[in-house]
Amino acid sequence: MNNFESLGLSKKLLQAVESEGYTTPTPVQEQSIPPLLAGRDVLGVAQTGTGKTAAFALPVLQVMSRSIPQGKRYIRALILSPTRELAAQIGERFSAYSENLNLNHKVIFGGVNQNPQVRALQKGLDILVATPGRLLDLIGQRHIDLSRVEFFVLDEADRMLDMGFIRDINKVLKLLPKKRQNLLFSATMPSSIADLAGSFLYNAVKIDVSPKEITVDRIEQKIMFVRKADKRRLLVQIIKSQKVKCGIVFTRTKHGANRLVKQLDQSGISAAAIHGNKSQGARTKALAGFKAGRIPILVATDIASRGIDVDGITHVFNYDLPNEPESYVHRIGRTARAGRSGVAYGFCDNSESGYLVGIQQLIGTEIAVDDSHDFHFPGAIPKPGQRPGKIKENKSQKKKKSIDNKKPRSGADKKPNQYRRRSKNNSREGKNRNHRNGNNGPRQGGNRSHRQNNRR
Ligand code: AMP
Repeated sequence: MNNFESLGLSKKLLQAVESEGYTTPTPVQEQSIPPLLAGRDVLGVAQTGTGKTAAFALPVLQVMSRSIPQGKRYIRALILSPTRELAAQIGERFSAYSENLNLNHKVIFGGVNQNPQVRALQKGLDILVATPGRLLDLIGQRHIDLSRVEFFVLDEADRMLDMGFIRDINKVLKLLPKKRQNLLFSATMPSSIADLAGSFLYNAVKIDVSPKEITVDRIEQKIMFVRKADKRRLLVQIIKSQKVKCGIVFTRTKHGANRLVKQLDQSGISAAAIHGNKSQGARTKALAGFKAGRIPILVATDIASRGIDVDGITHVFNYDLPNEPESYVHRIGRTARAGRSGVAYGFCDNSESGYLVGIQQLIGTEIAVDDSHDFHFPGAIPKPGQRPGKIKENKSQKKKKSIDNKKPRSGADKKPNQYRRRSKNNSREGKNRNHRNGNNGPRQGGNRSHRQNNRR
């Protein structure tokens, strides 16, 4: 099967697909569309960039258009998305695919005035794309009735759980009618997602489009070992020498993203930051400028970037290597979309070499090293047998620790000093850290290394 006709799609949807310029279904489309058209539940392991939106939107539209209710429309399909950006993009896809159909949809999310959303709901609509918070708000205000939902799609379920939406999801599930068709997509399938899937999918067809196969193929990956202090200059050098017109740079923290935008600006490179502390207006503006080619560089944190669906991204920079190896796969998947190719650079400093080990373990391959740049730093290369996630301590941190360990202990406290220190730090600094960085991932530092390792 390698064309859309053979998947059983109607003429109107085939026209829409054609006008989008799709000629061949992607693997996730090939595997999901027929069972969804046949009324089955589907559990899909697939990330953004694989064509998963069309994989659920096309069959949902087709089945819904078979019987269009008379009179005022009511919500027959609910798509839950973790982020506003992803919700907006799903909405855009529904607009494109449903242009020949008499079905309407609305995207609702928080951070913006609810009145236009309420008005659209009052008029009546067939398909609702929503983030959990605003959905539950509007349900609470009795603007939304989910009692006649026929399709329930939970998109990016792993990210939903990461963002703490499990209770919200369970609340929503209780409001749905028993008889409905379900679809769950997730980029990864940890046991928490398998449990969630088991709680509401019925006899689901399982589809696994593993990120390894999709992302790694067309993306040229390179690792550059570099001192932390040289990363900015290395980035500027690559952007300038390669005349990057559409690139995305990932930092671990929101603060780091803001700072880097300023620094790039000082080097004459126009960039915008996109992260959770930015207002919805600022995020939309940054993304629109980037999509239109006015801003060549977007600096993003992981949560905000998930679902950024811009086809022409040629470069992805892992300015900070992610501490979760799965994030690496998501990040590099921002390039090489829709059949194009791209290059993904990973800047690895000496505190991140363990992250690199974890990433290489996940993707099952060693990433090629580019040491031909001016800032090559062999001290950041992982040591033989280095364990994933271990953060190498620098000298000053080590010294500090050894001084601390020499301090006299009180007789009552028999705990090893390093643990006493760490728990104290966690309660005091932890608050500041979350406040400063929006809980956007751990910062580097010697005392964090134990926690990092414990989490793996
Ligand atoms: P998604 O994974 O749904 O975010 O889709 C990623 C990108 O692939 C979007 O820009 C889609 O427009 C595009 N796309 C989806 N299906 C196809 C296809 N069959 N052929 C080419 N591009 C596609």
